[in-house]
Amino acid sequence: MQIRIANIQVLSRLIKLLRLILIRFFFFLFDSMDFSSILFMWYATKARDLPWRNTINPYHIWVSEVILQQTRVVQGISYYYRFIERFPSIQSLADADIDDVMKVWQGLGYYTRARNLKAGAIQVMEQYNGILPKSYKELQRIKGLGAYSAAAIASFAFGEAVPAVDGNVYRILSRIFGIFTPIDSSTGKKEFFSLANELIPKNEPGRFNQALIDFGALQCTPKSPRCTDCPFADYCYAYKNNLIVALPVKSKKKPPVERFFYYFMIKHKGHTFIKRRQGKDIWHLLYEFPMVETGARLGHDQLLERMDSLNFLSGSKVNVLSISQPIRHLLSHRTIWATFIILEIDNPNYILTEEYVRIPIVGVSEYSLPRLIDAYMAAEPVIKYFSSKK
Ligand code: SF4
Repeated sequence: MQIRIANIQVLSRLIKLLRLILIRFFFFLFDSMDFSSILFMWYATKARDLPWRNTINPYHIWVSEVILQQTRVVQGISYYYRFIERFPSIQSLADADIDDVMKVWQGLGYYTRARNLKAGAIQVMEQYNGILPKSYKELQRIKGLGAYSAAAIASFAFGEAVPAVDGNVYRILSRIFGIFTPIDSSTGKKEFFSLANELIPKNEPGRFNQALIDFGALQCTPKSPRCTDCPFADYCYAYKNNLIVALPVKSKKKPPVERFFYYFMIKHKGHTFIKRRQGKDIWHLLYEFPMVETGARLGHDQLLERMDSLNFLSGSKVNVLSISQPIRHLLSHRTIWATFIILEIDNPNYILTEEYVRIPIVGVSEYSLPRLIDAYMAAEPVIKYFSSKK
């Protein structure tokens, strides 16, 4: 049995080695045509005009990179302008109130990014005299800066020859070079980084990284890539072998976890109650209405039954004014099903008066809220339930 396992291990190593040799051989052939020259020719006519491309200010590039971590470029542009106008320097961001930062960030989601950006600014002020370090390695010590963002800043602002490898680069390289190693495995990450590191020209690393970003966004897109007018079509393994859909390879993804949130918009004399989310969870430090989370969706009667035992409603007469349909809100690894219950009470108990902030309903928008709540408030005329003088 042991001999069989040893044989299998040797065979698997041989296959990996053979594949590596093939890739390198292909790369050798391809390199003579110069990968970056082909890419730059494409980029010369197709580059997008993005505001953070016209600067080498590392702070501005840092802000843009953090915004773009989980945001589409089109949505990110207005936030980028707003953010650097409101916090024009690392110092101003470090000195800012976290609520002001969150307010400018509101709507972008993934609020940990905003908190880390501010924490990173404080760290730069305290440990680096207010000046961002220049090297890829040192930049990764800044709170919230991972390998990709550090490589982007180091290459765009300081000209360091380090590849910024993200989903775009995995997709492009896996298709062109026919690499089947799963991109979410540690072996895959090392393999793609090493290949990108071989391809990046030492004299124009920033342009190379930017060109790959645009090539992934405009040409070699996840779905329906534009292969017929692609400058790499003659060399592309995936195109020539009809394997575009199969590449890149990902390990089996877990289905998103479903969570069920019930928000209570409590009316009392035209006012309502909110408080900050605490704990290590999504939307940390954002404001929300009193809520309960359940392990499964509740039917109408189950919900009313559950309300009887809610501590923030105890001791009060409750009049339910409206119950929304469950609203689906997608996050990267979770699906939130949110139900909004508007109700009126006659006597807020000590939990509401001590643990929550009492505000007029129209004042809710002044607080930083999860996008889910913000969107619900914008779409539903909830004000009408709060307008009577009762
Ligand atoms: S030929 Fe198609 S799959 Fe290959 S690099 Fe070009 S766009 Fe991507």
